[in-house]
Amino acid sequence: MSFLRNILKPSILKSKTHFPFPSSSSTLYNSLFSASHHYSTSADAGNTKMYAGLEPTKPNEKPRVVVLGSGWAGCRLIKEIDTKIYDIVCVSPRNHMVFTPLLASTCVGTLEFRSVAEPIGRIQPAINREPGSYYFLANCTSVDTDDHVVHCQTVTDGAQSLDPWKFKISYDKLVVASGAEASTFGIHGVHEHAIFLREVHHAQEIRRKLLLNLMLSDIPGVSEEEKKRLLHCVVVGGGPTGVEFSGELSDFIMKDVRQRYSHVKDYIHVTLIEANEILSSFDDRLRHYAAKQLTKSGVRLVRGIVKDVQPDKIILSDGSEVPYGLLVWSTGVGPSPFVKKLELEKSPGGRIGVDDWLRIPSVQDMYAIGDCAGFLESTGKPVLPALAQVAERQGKYLAKFLNRIGKAGGGHANNALDVDMGKPFVYRHLGSMATIGRYKALVDLRQSKDAKGLSLKGFPSWFIWRSAYLTRVISWRNRFYVAINWLTTLLFGRDISRI
Ligand SMILES: Cc1cc2nc3c(=O)[nH]c(=O)nc-3n(C[C@H](O)[C@H](O)[C@H](O)COP(=O)(O)OP(=O)(O)OC[C@H]3O[C@@H](n4cnc5c(N)ncnc54)[C@H](O)[C@@H]3O)c2cc1C
Repeated sequence: MSFLRNILKPSILKSKTHFPFPSSSSTLYNSLFSASHHYSTSADAGNTKMYAGLEPTKPNEKPRVVVLGSGWAGCRLIKEIDTKIYDIVCVSPRNHMVFTPLLASTCVGTLEFRSVAEPIGRIQPAINREPGSYYFLANCTSVDTDDHVVHCQTVTDGAQSLDPWKFKISYDKLVVASGAEASTFGIHGVHEHAIFLREVHHAQEIRRKLLLNLMLSDIPGVSEEEKKRLLHCVVVGGGPTGVEFSGELSDFIMKDVRQRYSHVKDYIHVTLIEANEILSSFDDRLRHYAAKQLTKSGVRLVRGIVKDVQPDKIILSDGSEVPYGLLVWSTGVGPSPFVKKLELEKSPGGRIGVDDWLRIPSVQDMYAIGDCAGFLESTGKPVLPALAQVAERQGKYLAKFLNRIGKAGGGHANNALDVDMGKPFVYRHLGSMATIGRYKALVDLRQSKDAKGLSLKGFPSWFIWRSAYLTRVISWRNRFYVAINWLTTLLFGRDISRI
């Protein structure tokens, strides 16, 4: 679609200063910071303590919105922001948004990885085209709220790549949308031995390990005990993500492993460990149904608390040992080290505290949205759940809010004081969905756990789940990929090549 737009509107294409990464820091500096009028030229390339970067905007230039993060919240904001009013700079360690509700399906080959990754430049083409808009592959390391500056450090890709490069960006408006981090509750060994399921590279790692273990267990001489261990997939955390992943795995085992790895089909098992009830936010009826269906599909449900994780086994608090070949950790999220480090007032739970308009009240021109943000206690509102639907709607709301401010002439730093702010952000929960494998899903349309409302289960819910997420996939390109992947899997089974 965007290429059609390009053909139809060649006049809007402007030449853009790119962000080259030459092979040495000094060349990098020279090309980066002398290439555009936006870049400062005062820094000493040899001295990493003196940062170069994007200078403050001038009154006759477009104001600059800096967005930290390319997740549900940040990307929704980037998509909706009016690029006639603002230049956008996105800083994130990944150049794409992950469509997380479908991530579990990529681990077992139901979907391809690219089907759930949406490049930022496709979400907001101005980032590729407009001379003052950029995407930088970097982490924000700190924020200087007095000077309206963020400090960043480039992301490097292993030992062969460049040393990290530091730079700074002046902002007129700053939106923190840096998400949360998987909780480990300080349990020893989780970081070292478990795989989280949050990013595309995690899904890739899970798939590689699963297929590796399937192949290793088929090699002559592997003991029975070792076969059982290699093919024991353990999922810790019975929330929607853990349950969906267990469902996908059991589907994979029942449909694909049984046919294509028939020598080891009786050894492969899935265990889901949860300290409380699985799917605790869902209706009781749906929870019991999910537990029954998962058990029917061969998933062993274990109530237990993990005490220690070792390279080949988990120790539970009752002393029992669970050997595993693949361990996936999905026990909810908490504030990231970056959020913890920011010296700003926090909401209950340690997220960045925001007011009713998603502003950070103690500082000028700074906002927080998505999993990293929570209402301050003083608002009287609860901290919202870490959900894509919350993050997405906050991104949309804040884009409109900033557009209104920008239109009224308040886009530049310290300039929005007298602008009408409009209505505060109000969240209305639309319901929850989760697949449990074997063409079955749960749809819970209640506003909250104790409210009354419609809840569905079984095949109709599965159909609703698939249709709903297909329509939510951001681009037509990925929607097409997802539909084709589903059809291919239905006709030919999952892709089991270990590339
Ligand atoms: C497997 C899985 C399935 C899920 N399924 C559902 C579902 O079905 N329905 C639902 O509502 N929710 C679901 N969720 C939850 C949902 O994905 C999150 O609530 C949502 O992603 C939060 O959006 P966000 O933008 O706040 O954070 P994220 O999407 O996590 O994005 C954060 C971004 O910030 C970047 N970042 C981190 N640190 C920095 C830094 N220092 N500087 C710059 N950038 C930084 C990250 O790289 C990332 O790009 C699921 C989550 C997972 C992991």
